[in-house]
Amino acid sequence: MFLLGHSCWSYLFSKLTGRQVKVNLPSYMALLAGVLPDFDIYFKPLIQHHTYTHSLIILLPVCAVLVIRFKGLGLAFSAGILSHLVADSIVGTIPPLYPLSNFQLGISLGLPSPVDTVLEAGALGLVLVLAYLNGDYKLVTESQCESVYLVIPMVSIVTLTLLFAGDNNVSLAAFAFSRKALTLITLGHVVLIGTLGLGVVQGVRAIIVEGKQPAPAPQVP
Ligand SMILES: [Zn+2]
Repeated sequence: MFLLGHSCWSYLFSKLTGRQVKVNLPSYMALLAGVLPDFDIYFKPLIQHHTYTHSLIILLPVCAVLVIRFKGLGLAFSAGILSHLVADSIVGTIPPLYPLSNFQLGISLGLPSPVDTVLEAGALGLVLVLAYLNGDYKLVTESQCESVYLVIPMVSIVTLTLLFAGDNNVSLAAFAFSRKALTLITLGHVVLIGTLGLGVVQGVRAIIVEGKQPAPAPQVP
């Protein structure tokens, strides 16, 4: 799955899990959690893509530590991380026992494939609906400092996509428009990045406005 789907599925898994345990994981974290397993792309060739960071015997202990340390927030964040493995095992396979075994688990419906496109574009649609219902859309429509953190998932998605394309020696434009299914995925990435970008601008605006406000006058006793 591409980063659009990972980020969106992560948001859905994290937010819905968070709701069950009555915590509200910040949106930038909910969008980022499911992108983390693909951070191995940053460490190429030190770490081979789709190995350690896609292994259950590595991620489950990490998630256990997060849950013990951060309770409900850790659980919501972990749900986002693990959504990555669920998604990858639908369109491809994951090595759940790496490095002990190279055994691959998954139903390999294909990437790119119509199923993948539905899963990615559908997830984006659901994210927009959920963000409307839970009020997260205000991060983009209103000027507030917290929105600036959306820069973290935004930069991750953009740089990982560029590195991934670079590694595979494909021209991004040619790749993006090579198939009808991919065109929709490309459009989805543009919508997601554009929305996050707008949020970042709102955050920066709020910070500038706050910085210009005069400091409160010292209290005279
Ligand atoms: Zn992956």
